[in-house]
Amino acid sequence: MNYQTILFDFDGVLCKGRFYEKTLLPDYPEVYDWIQLNIFKDKELVRRWMRNQIDSIEINKLISQNTGIEYEILKKLYKESVRNIKLDDKLVGLAKSIKLSGKKIGIVTDNMDIFTQITVPNHRLNVLFDVIINSADYGRLKNEDNGKSFDVALSDLGEKIESSLMIDDSESTIELYKKKGGHGFVYKNIEELKSFLRV
Ligand SMILES: [Mg+2]
Repeated sequence: MNYQTILFDFDGVLCKGRFYEKTLLPDYPEVYDWIQLNIFKDKELVRRWMRNQIDSIEINKLISQNTGIEYEILKKLYKESVRNIKLDDKLVGLAKSIKLSGKKIGIVTDNMDIFTQITVPNHRLNVLFDVIINSADYGRLKNEDNGKSFDVALSDLGEKIESSLMIDDSESTIELYKKKGGHGFVYKNIEELKSFLRV
């Protein structure tokens, strides 16, 4: 492995959990369905959420107003679902072993305010990863401003894009990363990644 730095996407790579799923779906299936249809299917709304142009409080108020679920109950179930989100332990283990071998590792994610508030401290991601860039903290998605979030991550690490690898399940993100001069891997599963990295 010749890369000095490895950057990981979060959703679809390190984690495949879903907001609201474990806590809301069992008791409030109609609210859960409303959210899927009116929040997550609305790609522009989700993008605004991930730029923090609308935050989790406003999103939950919107859901509460439209479905009748009490806001405080919804907020509690939302936060609980985020606390319950499981990471892919095998991939986290791989990230650890890469770090132990002397490389730098980071996360660049299009994500919500709640990622920085709960997911990062909950899984101590800031201890394992040398840099974490969450779109909600910068008001910018990965593919926007010619991928400036990657520049920010690499400059924080003091590393060059030419000696770095981005692992992401989005083909367009990997395309952009390569265009910027980096190496990229479109993630599907850990087995393929391991054989790509020859580890
Ligand atoms: Mg992803």
